[in-house]
Amino acid sequence: MPSPSPAPEPLLARPGLSWSGTVDYGPGPLHAPRTLEELQRIVAGARRIRALGTRHSFSRVAASEADLVTLGELPEEIEVDSAARTVRVAAGVRYGTLALELARHGLALANTGSLPHISVAGASATGTHGSGDRQQALAASVRALDLVTAGGDIVSLDREGDAEVFGGAVLALGALGVATHLTLDVVPAFEVRQRVYLELPAEQFGGAGLDAVLAGAYSVSVFHHWDGTGAQIWAKQAVVAGDPAERTAAADAAGPVGLPTDPRSAFPELWHGARRADAAVHPLPGLPGDLCTDQTGTPGPSHERLPHFRLEFTPSSGEEIQSEYYVPRAQIAEALAAVMPLGDRIRPLLHASEVRTVAADELWLSPAHGRDSALVHFTWKRRPAEVEALLPEIEAALAPFSPRPHWGKVFTLDPGTVRAHYPRLEDFRSLRDRLDPTRTFANAYVDRYLGV
Ligand SMILES: Cc1cc2nc3c(=O)[nH]c(=O)nc-3n(C[C@H](O)[C@H](O)[C@H](O)COP(=O)(O)OP(=O)(O)OC[C@H]3O[C@@H](n4cnc5c(N)ncnc54)[C@H](O)[C@@H]3O)c2cc1C
Repeated sequence: MPSPSPAPEPLLARPGLSWSGTVDYGPGPLHAPRTLEELQRIVAGARRIRALGTRHSFSRVAASEADLVTLGELPEEIEVDSAARTVRVAAGVRYGTLALELARHGLALANTGSLPHISVAGASATGTHGSGDRQQALAASVRALDLVTAGGDIVSLDREGDAEVFGGAVLALGALGVATHLTLDVVPAFEVRQRVYLELPAEQFGGAGLDAVLAGAYSVSVFHHWDGTGAQIWAKQAVVAGDPAERTAAADAAGPVGLPTDPRSAFPELWHGARRADAAVHPLPGLPGDLCTDQTGTPGPSHERLPHFRLEFTPSSGEEIQSEYYVPRAQIAEALAAVMPLGDRIRPLLHASEVRTVAADELWLSPAHGRDSALVHFTWKRRPAEVEALLPEIEAALAPFSPRPHWGKVFTLDPGTVRAHYPRLEDFRSLRDRLDPTRTFANAYVDRYLGV
């Protein structure tokens, strides 16, 4: 049990804004403990409290009407177990930092989001994903979790030992407690080559061609502007060593079709009618390509190719809002076609849209729960009122595809519609009753979408 001494003064009186400047986290205070014991005391003394990660969500998922806590001042612990192929990591560690440490041990994460700047706990809590038909959301790699619960106690949960509840514990929108450590599955280090292809023609973008492109490498993103063509294909293909003994499971997941996995074979100049770019590009028009990861086709460590953005630079635009909807993988071309008539209304508000894929998982609140998915994504200009006015029309167009919104991005779907897509929601609510009966970790967003 934590000691009964009073919680220390918070370091900052007011939490401030999200990374994008579009979410005000609330009045605070914002606590920044330097030790685990301090964190336990703060939580035990709070009536209501929410944890902040690196503040990259665009929705109000992390906001609080009361206290907030950041784990950014806690030690950045990373404990690698090479034999078990796991890593135990402090919750606030960023994926970019973690990937470098794993590389020193000859290990890697199987996948990453588009940016390495986000925290492991924050990304796991919202279902953050990369891209790849065989790649699950990052939270699916979590095998154990330590949570500080309302009384300040630490509860440890494990994928095997707590199998009946673990599916609800990791991707939990911060509603069960403050995660302090997560243990992740990792894979042997592997290399990836990245190339960008430009101008995917309409006849490819609109049908089976898009399916083939998305299936054509370990991780694929297609950027477009709702004009019926694909502006950029970012193809990230795993390098598979010739010697079968050296093949890694991660590299084998590159799949049998698509771009060559043998580094001696160059990527083709034309791919599904799109032409190979001869200079680095940025997914957002007008921004320089050198802010992004290597696009020359040179093999490099997976953590230097799988994210789009480099850790040392600002990712994306910054002046932006994002929205993203999960639809069934098999219906992505149809779903895009359904939204296409809104193109003229979307484009003036848009930096860029991206199509990605993510494999199904069994996490109860995962937007990819039980369903191989494809993502209909928007990086909007920072014009929140106009974006929110247009979203209901996009959501109506996507309705036949049962869209599940990304928890960390902006959407306007009503709570009943959102809840109907989560068959394990009642199980989650029971788990929440057990772990947080006092609703210490609730906020308006969680109440709205998961119930009070
Ligand atoms: C430029 C940019 C690119 C992006 N690219 C992608 C992408 O490729 N794929 C994708 O899926 N998303 C992407 N996102 C969205 C982003 O990855 C998610 O919103 C993610 O949750 C952000 O993590 P964070 O550490 O910033 O968490 P925050 O936004 O700070 O918090 C998110 C949630 O996690 C909870 N949380 C944080 N820490 C803890 C903790 N210790 N214990 C319990 N709960 C906690 C918070 O309470 C909150 O509910 C992108 C965002 C930006 C700004």
